Amino acid sequence: MLRNKIPVGILGATGSVGQKFFSLLANHPWFEITALAASKQSAGEKYHKLVKINRNDPNENSYGNFRISECQPDLPCRIVFSALDASVAGEIETLFAENGYIVVSNARNHRFHEKVPLLIPEINSDHLQLLAHQSWSGGKIVTNPNCSTTGLAIGLKPLLDTFGIEAVHVVTMQAISGAGYPGLPAMDINDNVIPFIGGEEDKMEREPQKILGVYRDAKIYQADFTLSASCNRVAVLEGHLESISVKLKSGASEDRIINAWQTYSGLPQKLKLPSAPKQLIHYFSDDDLPQPRRQRDLENGMAVSIGRLRPCPIFDYKFTLLVHNTLRGAAGGAILNAELMVAQNLIAV
Ligand code: NAP
Repeated sequence: MLRNKIPVGILGATGSVGQKFFSLLANHPWFEITALAASKQSAGEKYHKLVKINRNDPNENSYGNFRISECQPDLPCRIVFSALDASVAGEIETLFAENGYIVVSNARNHRFHEKVPLLIPEINSDHLQLLAHQSWSGGKIVTNPNCSTTGLAIGLKPLLDTFGIEAVHVVTMQAISGAGYPGLPAMDINDNVIPFIGGEEDKMEREPQKILGVYRDAKIYQADFTLSASCNRVAVLEGHLESISVKLKSGASEDRIINAWQTYSGLPQKLKLPSAPKQLIHYFSDDDLPQPRRQRDLENGMAVSIGRLRPCPIFDYKFTLLVHNTLRGAAGGAILNAELMVAQNLIAV
């Protein structure tokens, strides 16, 4: 427990991920919301007038009367969680970092900056050493990966550590909430699957190698496997499902693979961080699991579910993985990043 809660703001508070941040931070043991910000069009309005997704959020009573500010670096907080649209996130996040704020971002803009960690706390907490080499006048930027990549990287890490990975092929079935609010027109997505998500395949094919790379001398040396991704939008509200095939570097049995997943845990579990799932990966042996509706909320949406491990006639093994896109894949993941930074004394409070 901290003696005083750390004041935090949400940039992009009115969007799909911003509203998830609001719900998760409203009763957080370490953080206290002191600022909500969005575009000029929303500035000055009361938060509860603008939100549409979390209409019946019980936290609305305590925070609903907050007025939205513009995204200017005069907000009364130490950390800003960014859920900004990528078209504006780069410039605004840099401005906040240059003014001494800790920026914990969901947006893609800074993910490949060579001094910015692309962080999943259970996987690559050592990449936080990059922060010492950032040069934004006292501020810092940490990013979390694309929502589908988060699940994929978590599923691959125990396999990489135990057997090595040569190649990965993934086909995603991604929820509508991944497209933000209001997202896709009902006439496009109802009764349909859309076999294209702009920019998504490129992100999935590049991000895992940085996340699973090795930190040495202020640099990340990327993991060396190849990856092919095909991304589809499906008529599910939350939870991205992924069909994954892997070619491993050394021989593995199904039992050993399942054991590697089930026994894997990281620093957030050891430190018992408030948002950390007790068990990071849950394996299901039922033929028809995991499913978005049934498993996405496991451990408050912060665990990853895997099932259907079987031999692959082209690669070595294939399996199905589920990740909650706006919780583990976005707001929850970013809050866990900030918790780890606080626990490691990387944020002066
Ligand atoms: P969204 O629903 O479209 O929300 C975008 C937010 O950005 C809104 O609060 C909007 O404010 C704000 N914004 C737009 N233009 C602005 C401007 N010129 N100045 C200041 N604020 C501005 O998007 P989202 O789905 O929440 O995604 C947010 C970010 O997280 C994106 O970068 C996205 O790629 C990333 N992400 C999303 C997911 C997911 O599952 N949805 C997962 C991982 C990462 P107004 O309401 O005032 O316009």
